[in-house]
Amino acid sequence: MTTAPRTWPCAATTCHRDLRDHELDARQTICSPCLSTLHSWLHEIPLQLIVLGGSRQRETTGAAGRAGTRTPPLPGRDDVLNLLGPAAWTSVRDTDGDQTGAVPIVGVLGSWVRIVCEERRWNGPAAPAAETLALWLGRPPVLNWTARQPWAGEMRDEIHGLMRTIWGVTRLRPQRRPVPQPCPRCDSLALVETDHEAYIDCTTCEARFTRGELALGAVIAVAQLDVA
Ligand SMILES: [Zn+2]
Ligand SMILES: [Zn+2]
Repeated sequence: MTTAPRTWPCAATTCHRDLRDHELDARQTICSPCLSTLHSWLHEIPLQLIVLGGSRQRETTGAAGRAGTRTPPLPGRDDVLNLLGPAAWTSVRDTDGDQTGAVPIVGVLGSWVRIVCEERRWNGPAAPAAETLALWLGRPPVLNWTARQPWAGEMRDEIHGLMRTIWGVTRLRPQRRPVPQPCPRCDSLALVETDHEAYIDCTTCEARFTRGELALGAVIAVAQLDVA
């Protein structure tokens, strides 16, 4: 029997981190930062749904002809309806990628809920609505189990795609701000923090740090300056 190498990449295609020892020990296939991001996205969906619902509402009232308002046309109204549309609970995966338009939120989330329920023999949420599906997938027991599955990277990438579609319609993307501190790993001033995210990203070397790690990095940097 051969021993697997101790460096193993995170299974998410948009992530370039190698799994750390404690992540490998926990049999994770995606890294903890990706897991944390997935948690943030799933908990952001209920907020985005409020905005999407509002966009759909304004479209219906707009049909009555409010000529007095000079508001520009809402972006992507078809996308809103597609995103909020119903999805067949059974025909879920678009493996050929030939689906046109945005896949409904219920369709994307529902497919992953179904996979989790089938493999784990859990009962899914009582009501298959977008919000309940998102919050169900975002529960820690579900996420922690998900992180150890061979398809966790695919799920992370697919929900990232869903979030990008939602952000494109609502224009409410989590805000990113520069962090005025050099990256502890590559020393460049390229750290960025994002709303709702537990991790701070380096846009140069793609390392991710918790606030605690960054605070420690700052302390070490100051100590090295004192020594020099
Ligand atoms: Zn990752
Ligand atoms: Zn860096």
